[in-house]
Formats: sequence, structure tokens, C-alpha cells
Amino acid sequence: MSKTIAVLAGDGIGPEIVREAVRVLEVLQRDGLDIRFEYAPLGGAAYDEYGAPYPEFTQNICRAADAVLLGAVGGPKYDHLERPLRPERGLLAIRKDLNLFANLRPAVLYPELADASTLKPEVVSGLDILIVRELTGDIYFGEPRGITTNEKGEREGINTMRYSESEIRRIGHIAFQAAAKRNKKLCSVDKANVLETTELWKEIMTDLNREYPEVSLSHMYVDNAAMQLVKNPKQFDVMVTGNIFGDILSDQASMLTGSIGMLPSASLNETGKGLYEPSHGSAPDIAGQNKANPLATILSAAMLVRYSLNDEARARRIESAVQKVLQQGLRTGDIFEEGCRLVSCSEMGDAVVAAL
Ligand code: NAD
Repeated sequence: MSKTIAVLAGDGIGPEIVREAVRVLEVLQRDGLDIRFEYAPLGGAAYDEYGAPYPEFTQNICRAADAVLLGAVGGPKYDHLERPLRPERGLLAIRKDLNLFANLRPAVLYPELADASTLKPEVVSGLDILIVRELTGDIYFGEPRGITTNEKGEREGINTMRYSESEIRRIGHIAFQAAAKRNKKLCSVDKANVLETTELWKEIMTDLNREYPEVSLSHMYVDNAAMQLVKNPKQFDVMVTGNIFGDILSDQASMLTGSIGMLPSASLNETGKGLYEPSHGSAPDIAGQNKANPLATILSAAMLVRYSLNDEARARRIESAVQKVLQQGLRTGDIFEEGCRLVSCSEMGDAVVAAL
């Protein structure tokens, strides 16, 4: 049965990078992948057209779709708007609307780009980590919260770290399943020596391991995980953690690669529906100049094929094509180095299409 992909180009470089990712998916479509595209605006583009960053038109298309491919939202043109109308609100709204509780962020460093990292090439070359972060719970959402005045008359800030067993189980399943498709190593990150919330987290991850005996599970305290990511990041395959630890560790891991234009992401719900987008923003400084690196968006399309269309072989085809163009020495400005060929956004897209 045909699967529908909602395509939300968004703002800034969004339309340029999404165009290239759609061309890549169209190659697979011509090869027999049964997909169709529905286009809708999000963020500033949606505000311009409908007066809201996540209008009903876009909601209906996204709710009916099997997966959503997004470019990026935001830009200086919209900074004066009141908060509920800002482009970034559209992003929060779509995540909430589709109940996207699992955020998957790979940090892959292609050997060809090892010099882009601030770490020594031998520490990071060939790095391939997947961070699975819970996205809708934890201290970011727990109640009670707020700034109050205590009995001594002093102001006090309060947030609550909180996870229910079912919230931990559902993110655990996603992480174990992802590890089972990769190198079968899962590291659960907690602070169980101090925080009861994560003591429960650890207990449930251990319990879930019985359903995935092929995956080898380890546990690590978050402070040690932060150190190990810098010291010896290649020890990790999949890491799973809660919202706040994941927020920090996924940014740390992404910077191991040194190139923001290369990093895809996926946010999934319980039915496998997902929102796929590059980890970077709308880069207003280079928008409309055909200079942006489309590879993070193309790699996000590969994740879409893997997780929402369940087609591992075609996902790998896209990833291999990306690696091939890097081997050919093609580079957009953000990853350019001496001796390589500088290409535009659309030329990079052409090269990936040709490599496919
Ligand atoms: P940014 O990621 O857009 O840009 C940071 C720097 O990286 C810029 O110099 C930019 O030119 C460069 N860059 C980013 N992506 C690139 C690519 N694909 N190719 C080449 N260079 C690239 O972050 P920012 O400047 O902090 O934010 C700009 C706008 O994007 C803001 O409005 C912000 O709110 C929004 N934003 C959106 C998202 C999202 O849609 N998920 C995420 C982050 C920021």
C-alpha cells in the first residue's frame, strides 16, 4: 500500500535542502518504492500563508501521513512576532500533536571528514553512535514546577524529575529495537546512585533486556558517559537516556563529528510514524544562495525509509550514496577542505542522485 510522506520545507535553507532530499526519494520511488508526497508549510512559511506556524491545513496533512520530512524553521523576519506565532512554536506543536516521544540522533563521522572534528582523527574516525532520547517527559515537563516564595520569604525555583514505568518502557523498546538492527549494544545512561527516577529507569531497562536477549545491555552514570563520549566515543553503539541527559549528551555527541550540516534526526511515536529533520536550523545567513549542505536532510530521508517505511536495504542505499560522494571529494562550504571540490547544494544533490 502506498505510504504518504508529508513534506514541510519550512524557512531559510529549508526549501533548498528538502528539494534535494525529495529528489533522492524520487529515485527510490522510480525504482518501486511505493510512496507519494503531500506538501504543506510549517513555521514562518505557514505564518505567511495561514497566520499560524502549525495551521490546520498542515495538521491535517501531517496527521494523515505515514511520515513527515522537515527542513528547518525560523528566521529574523519572524523574531518580532509574539511567542505563540513564532516559527519554533510550530515545531513544538507538531511534536506534541503527533506524540513524538522518541528522538533518535545518530552521530556518524565518515572517515573522509575525520579532520572536521576538534578531536584527534584516530579517536573519532569511523564513529557511529545512535542516541535515543526520551522527548516528552522528565524534568522538562514534570509537575510541580515554577518559581515560588518559600516560608522564609525567599524565592525558590522548582522542577520535578518524573518518569512513569510506561514512559520508560516505551522508549526502552525503541532503543532495544534500534540496537537489535545495529551492533546489538545498548548503553542505558542514568544517575541511579543519586536519583530515584533513574533508579526506576535502570530497573526497567534491565527487565526489558529479557525481551531482547540478543542485545547486550550496559549501564553508565551520566557524568561518566559525558567523559567517555570524549575519551573513547567508539565504545558506544546505541545509548538510551531521559530527556534532560539526552538533550546534553546528543549535542555533545553531535559535535564529535564537527559538521552540523551532516547530522540527521528522527522523532518517533508509538506507531512508528516519525518526523525526520536535520539537526541544524534554517541558516538564514546562507538562505537562498544554493550553498547549504543538503546531506543532513538526505540522511534524514534515509532514517525515514528505515524507521517509518521499514526498508533497511533502501535506507542503506541512500547512506552508501552519501558516503560515495564524500569519497569522490565533493564538499559544500561547511565541510570544505583543501584538495576537495566545492559544490553547491543542488550539485551535491545531483551527485547523490547519480551515486544512487
Ligand atoms: P543554524 O543551525 O541555522 O545555523 C548555525 C550555523 O551553521 C550558521 O552559520 C549556518 O550557516 C550553518 N549551517 C546550518 N546548517 C547548515 C547547512 N545545512 N549547511 C551549511 N551550513 C549550515 O542555527 P542558528 O543560526 O542558531 O538559527 C537560525 C534559525 O534557525 C533561528 O531562527 C532558529 O530558531 C532556527 N532553528 C531551527 C531549528 C529547527 O528547525 N529544528 C533548529 C535550530 C535553530
